[in-house]
Amino acid sequence: MRGATTNVCYNALDRHVENGDADRVAFYWEGNEPADDEVVTYGQLLERVRRCSNALRALGVRRGDPVAVYLPMIPELAVTVLACARIGAVHSVVFGGFSADALADRILDAKCEVIVTSDGFWRGNKLVHLKEIADHAVQECAEKDHTVRKVLVVRHLPRLKQHTGTNGATDGEQPAKKMEYDIEAAWSAGRDVWWTDAMKEAAPDCEPEWMDAEDPLFMLYTSGSTGKPKGVLHTTAGYMLYAATTFKYSFDYHPEDVYWCTADVGWITGHSYVVYGPLLNRATSVMFEGSPFYPNGERPWQIVDKYAVSKFYTAPTAIRALMRLGDELVTKYSRRSLKVLATVGEPINPEAWLWYHRVVGDARCAVVDTFWQTETGGHVITPLPGATPTKPGSACRPFFGVQPALLDEQGVEIHGPGEGYLVFRRPWPGIMRTVFGNHERFETTYFKKFNGSGAFPLTESGRSSVFPLTEFCAQIESALIEHPAVAEAAVVAVPHSIKGEAVYCFVTNKQGTEWSDQLKKDLILKVRERIGAFAAPDYLQSAPGLPKTRSGKIMRRVLRKIAVGDRQLGDVSTMADSTVIDTLFELRSVHL
Ligand code: ATP
Ligand code: MG
Repeated sequence: MRGATTNVCYNALDRHVENGDADRVAFYWEGNEPADDEVVTYGQLLERVRRCSNALRALGVRRGDPVAVYLPMIPELAVTVLACARIGAVHSVVFGGFSADALADRILDAKCEVIVTSDGFWRGNKLVHLKEIADHAVQECAEKDHTVRKVLVVRHLPRLKQHTGTNGATDGEQPAKKMEYDIEAAWSAGRDVWWTDAMKEAAPDCEPEWMDAEDPLFMLYTSGSTGKPKGVLHTTAGYMLYAATTFKYSFDYHPEDVYWCTADVGWITGHSYVVYGPLLNRATSVMFEGSPFYPNGERPWQIVDKYAVSKFYTAPTAIRALMRLGDELVTKYSRRSLKVLATVGEPINPEAWLWYHRVVGDARCAVVDTFWQTETGGHVITPLPGATPTKPGSACRPFFGVQPALLDEQGVEIHGPGEGYLVFRRPWPGIMRTVFGNHERFETTYFKKFNGSGAFPLTESGRSSVFPLTEFCAQIESALIEHPAVAEAAVVAVPHSIKGEAVYCFVTNKQGTEWSDQLKKDLILKVRERIGAFAAPDYLQSAPGLPKTRSGKIMRRVLRKIAVGDRQLGDVSTMADSTVIDTLFELRSVHL
């Protein structure tokens, strides 16, 4: 209906509370320390969101204004995101693991004048002074003539203080680290505002802003696996519908479920499947602050039993890492509540898929490999649990209304198995609407390759957007990972004077195993057996660590550069640990 209005926050909270669900649990919040937890009902969440909405308004935030959200995985993160949606402000969540530079880039790109952050957080044994990083970012912005007017600060660390020291963590180090940064001394009066003060002063009632279907809801930067992150913009009604519907069907959601998605709200997965999708469906979720490996690798399964989690959603990189720790850590927990095991973010190699299915799910749970992107807003290719026959390593079928196709370089459709560009022939409700502040980049990135230039294509059919697919390399990776000495592998194609393209493999050994010529021979054999001689690796090198984004994805574009010996790596601001790079260059020269 033309001219109709809505509000996503109203649909995620008020609607349920008005329908008598105020006491229903929205989040079981589980802190970094196993003893640190909190239950938040729909009624409580709505109350906090209303106050936060008024607090943001008091800081001068108006409908359409961008707000940078730089918070750990604490309830206040969901509260802030929903408060923005309530008052029509456009949230730009920046993952709490990002540096001051990365935060400053994102603040500048969107011209955010208000940031919501916290004093800091613990992730495992590591203390991160978030406010200190935010201060640096604000300073960087000032040097580039952009003023951040207000910084709203959640006090989160003191509540954890009482727990540190009880977990056998490296205590000697912690108090010393705490002293490094004195938040009170660095406080900028007039700019910095404590969250509790702002909330106390805020009125408890807050009428939502009624938004047009196409009003912006949020912007979010992509992970940076393939290049400089893009500020993806999603709008109100289509995104709301798509997040809600995909959540309901991909996870076969039922009201009695307890659902847990391990993703950080700093990524699209956290937007669609920690905050919006579950709340729009009135679901009860676990929100987890910590790391799956802290205090040890049993933590995920301990949490599954603690809350009787029935639907579990995580990333292949976590599954592979947990798999490496052995089955006993999993099997000592009951896991009887589990029904659906889902994954997202990267291709899942069949060995990890089968382990997830057989060990974690006791061979009685559906495994749901969801393929999608920041750009797509929600799942675009995914099995529906119980309805779609699954195959390890395959995301199976398009979601309702999605029309994918595989095209070759010339734009000719490839039927049957092959490698090419995954494109979508028609839009769907959750598709991104633009790259924030750069509509031209949106058109050139996604629509030009196969169609020439053109107008905004949302209402036209027959247009395609470009999403590269690297199925071939993924198959070689899975073959390599099957070898008992291999923990992880990444494969890239490099130019070759005779063959055109050659296969270059980076291989991480499992602990206790070693790189050797024999291993190289075995791996080549393995690939020949599994896929065929044509796919046999041309180059194999040992990789004690792989370059990954902070969301845990292997940065194959960086590996492509290393493979050809090119030190111009491009944008590496989203890389989690850049020290692996030098080692990889060194080992390259040793091995080649
Ligand atoms: P950038 O676009 O900045 O390079 P990115 O593509 O990693 O980064 P995201 O939007 O977070 O940023 O991730 C989407 C990408 O993740 C997809 O394009 C795809 O490569 C990969 N992906 C997500 N889910 C799956 C899946 N189930 N199977 C295979 N790949 C997946
Ligand atoms: Mg991408």
